Amino acid sequence: MPEYPGHGDNATNEARDVAWHLHPFTNMRRLESEGPFVITSGRGIHVTDDNGREYIDAMAGLWCVSLGFSEKRLAEAAYRQMLELPYASTFGQRSHPTAIALAEKLIALMPVPMSKVFFNNSGSEANDTAVKLVWYYNNAIGRPRKKKIIARMKGYHGSTIASASLAGLPFMHLDFDLPIAGIRHTDCPNFYRGAKPGESEGEFSTRMAENLDTLIEREGPDTVAAFIAEPVQGSGGVVVPPRGYFEKLQAVLRKHDVLFVADEVICGFGRTGNMFGCETFAIAPDIMTVAKSLSSAYLPISATIINEKLYQGLASNSDKLASFTHGFTYSGHPVCAAVALETLKIYEERDIVGHVRSVAPRFQAGLRRLLEHPLVGDVRGVGLMAGIELVHDKATKQSFDAKAGVGTYFEACAHAEGLLMRGRGELLVLSPPLIITEAEIDELLARLGRALDATADHVRRSEL
Ligand code: PLP
Repeated sequence: MPEYPGHGDNATNEARDVAWHLHPFTNMRRLESEGPFVITSGRGIHVTDDNGREYIDAMAGLWCVSLGFSEKRLAEAAYRQMLELPYASTFGQRSHPTAIALAEKLIALMPVPMSKVFFNNSGSEANDTAVKLVWYYNNAIGRPRKKKIIARMKGYHGSTIASASLAGLPFMHLDFDLPIAGIRHTDCPNFYRGAKPGESEGEFSTRMAENLDTLIEREGPDTVAAFIAEPVQGSGGVVVPPRGYFEKLQAVLRKHDVLFVADEVICGFGRTGNMFGCETFAIAPDIMTVAKSLSSAYLPISATIINEKLYQGLASNSDKLASFTHGFTYSGHPVCAAVALETLKIYEERDIVGHVRSVAPRFQAGLRRLLEHPLVGDVRGVGLMAGIELVHDKATKQSFDAKAGVGTYFEACAHAEGLLMRGRGELLVLSPPLIITEAEIDELLARLGRALDATADHVRRSEL
């Protein structure tokens, strides 16, 4: 297998890291033996490791560094705010001008009428807050039985206890004693994997909606409070909804008075070619969660945004209870809020959504050409996000044996080509910074093609 450049090259750093730093989503034994891959700096869409090797970061960190790694205006906005007011609480009726301005700006950007913004620090917290608000709302309006939340298989909503429970990914639950009670899962709308022979996209969507309807009927509509979905399932495989999917699902949700929570943590702020994935797929949510590109990931901040109906329900509880007892020390942190405000300003000034629309066709068309590659079974994506599914047999769609480690081998080949990509098993994921240019897209595609060829050679030689 090609070496991951940077792994194990710096013994001092490695030993220190292995001793003290417990990494998220990492095989601890592999980290012990190989050491970490250490990034030391970034510029535009590139990052550099501790050996001075430069890579195109085709994941924009974790789907988040939308403005690239060297946007000075964000650093300056943070610095200015630190000098002015480095911290202020938003508990107990307090606020500060930056949080007020950011909340106002977010409401103005919403694709459907929304009323209030609750600030958190991460996507996970934004979704946990959404779950708590849904429960609190239904208690407040006298529906204490209506509490279950329906998520989707392959969905990803974060790592905290509630958001990990929402995940439709068994590895998020294993040995963590999750999910919590009251979470149900409906189908993943993966047409490539889930369609029956001869089924059209429209028919597939109808079946997905009927299955959701059946699930709600079986559970009892008076016990189902909300449905949560990413407009495009990201971590679960870049699953773009099939034609008519959300339209049909929303009709079912309306019929049963079930709230729609749109998890825009990845899709929000231009990724799909509109400001929000809800616009791309005609979703009218009651609650929207945003994070990541809200601040171009320069500082942690997220938001749970609710409509007026929700707000009035929640507020009605304040006649009964002394206070709305939910929040974080850093809810609406001034420095994070200042960076988020500046990020939104830059999106508008530079028409980032227009830029995504202008370069995305080249990106998507270049990736679709890979369908001719012997290892590539499916390519799916929209805007500047995409997934490539590697298969053992294109005709039968048979996957590689997980133990063959083809995705991991590909990742190492991509590293060797100077390309950072995330291999989730045999699913390769791309989500470059939104500022990527057409020339950079061409270079990314060239490196990707070479890494795929090297992987195909390996598969042939090893007779996998
Ligand atoms: N929701 C979605 C769709 C995500 O992709 C993620 C993270 O990747 C999260 C929520 C969780 O965000 P965080 O890691 O900031 O808690």
